[in-house]
Amino acid sequence: MTVATIPEYDHSNVAMVGEHAVVVGGSMAGLVAARVLADAFERVTVIERDAFPDEPRPRRGVPQGNHVHALLEAGRDTLEDLFPGYSDDLVSAGAMDIDLSTDFNFYDEGDFVASGSHHVSMYCATRPLIEYVTWRRLAAIDGVALRDECHLTEYLMDDTGTTVVGVTVRDETGTTEEVEADLVVDCTGRTSSTPEWLADHGYRRPPRDEVEIDLVYSTILVERPPTDMRAFHVMPCPPRARSTVTLPIEDDRWVVTLSGLHGDHPPADLDGMLEFAKSLPVDAVARIIEDHEIVSDGVEQYPFPANLRRRYWELERFPDGLVVLGDTIASFNPIYGQGMSVAALEGLQLHHALAAGGRDDLAVRFFNRVESVVDNAWNVSVGSDFRFEETTGPKPPGTDILNRYLSRMTRKAHDDGTLADAYSRVVTMEEPPTSLLRPSIVWRVVKPSLTT
Ligand SMILES: Cc1cc2nc3c(=O)[nH]c(=O)nc-3n(C[C@H](O)[C@H](O)[C@H](O)COP(=O)(O)OP(=O)(O)OC[C@H]3O[C@@H](n4cnc5c(N)ncnc54)[C@H](O)[C@@H]3O)c2cc1C
Repeated sequence: MTVATIPEYDHSNVAMVGEHAVVVGGSMAGLVAARVLADAFERVTVIERDAFPDEPRPRRGVPQGNHVHALLEAGRDTLEDLFPGYSDDLVSAGAMDIDLSTDFNFYDEGDFVASGSHHVSMYCATRPLIEYVTWRRLAAIDGVALRDECHLTEYLMDDTGTTVVGVTVRDETGTTEEVEADLVVDCTGRTSSTPEWLADHGYRRPPRDEVEIDLVYSTILVERPPTDMRAFHVMPCPPRARSTVTLPIEDDRWVVTLSGLHGDHPPADLDGMLEFAKSLPVDAVARIIEDHEIVSDGVEQYPFPANLRRRYWELERFPDGLVVLGDTIASFNPIYGQGMSVAALEGLQLHHALAAGGRDDLAVRFFNRVESVVDNAWNVSVGSDFRFEETTGPKPPGTDILNRYLSRMTRKAHDDGTLADAYSRVVTMEEPPTSLLRPSIVWRVVKPSLTT
């Protein structure tokens, strides 16, 4: 499901269903979950192990925050519904509002795709700024509190062993405390300990899929002339495993992230970064690095070994009083920029699951709603990763046929703005991948042309 296929947020559909909800993890998924829960619980407490910064700054618990983060339209649109005026807040805080159809240069299958007629704003900022603006909006809601420098150590169970009734936390002084809650939402990310905890308490672990890609990101910040809004996304395309996402961000800078799959990794030094950028089929990014001052201290690196999906919706039994959301369920090859938007759409599904029945069987209703959100994003990223024969793991059925179709479509989109629009709406999670199989689109892809 995408933003076009999930009903809109409507707070009037949700009744108060409990006194206290706890969200563990104060990153993007946790902030969205807490926003939705604030409609249904008198109090919501966000528990975060990091000290929460009082200005936009990278933090230890979100190491990916040093790297490029694109906020796709599905995520922006959902955040706008949850926090009216959110996009303006981002821009006031310094984010760049670029036009996806003109400023964003998307290169795949040997050329740039054509400019579409579909004007879509894309708000470009550092990840710490996006999180900071979201946190500021959440903190302004009555009943929401943050306990930072506070670590989840254990869920609390009732005597029957079927219901989570709170959490045990440890603060920065080492003191532990039990915090009661009617609902606990695990948003601790990819390294969540919920699967092991379930196994230790007589439940099944969620089935797990891993698709290995051996990806590494290297990132620098570069000075940017204030009026230069150019953004570049060069996709990896076999046999070239190298790519870049380069975006204009706040404070007159570009964030330049270079990445490489399957061992062809970008180096961690500036000279090596420049050489790597020069090897890309688009010379603009190397020129950005060469012609402008580097303003970051050094090169930040981040390894991302595999796409990871935990199929919680397949569990027959799951404790009451507990839900998991965000990267805890699935994390995707970041070059497709989906994670924050998937978290936002999952938050929207949590809202609808609460509206449909309150706390009773909430996890079952939520996981059923979340499956297609996760699977859409999974099929886009994993499907594309399987263009490389070195990619290993469970391949979604039909991937090879779909990849041949998408390859032809992308080549046609070099000259066809309608196809470029259609593709862009799928990549930004506004429309489901099946929208690319509408007869009007299929005809444009398969009709013979002089060049394909
Ligand atoms: C290199 C990279 C680039 C990315 N680029 C993009 C992009 O362009 N666009 C996009 O939308 N997404 C991107 N993503 C994905 C995005 O960062 C995540 O999907 C998004 O942050 C949502 O994650 P989350 O909140 O579920 O988990 P996380 O961001 O991992 O946050 C987990 C939080 O839980 C806290 N925590 C963990 N354990 C405990 C504990 N025991 N007690 C208390 N707190 C705890 C952590 O400190 C942290 O704050 C990227 C990811 C990576 C790795």
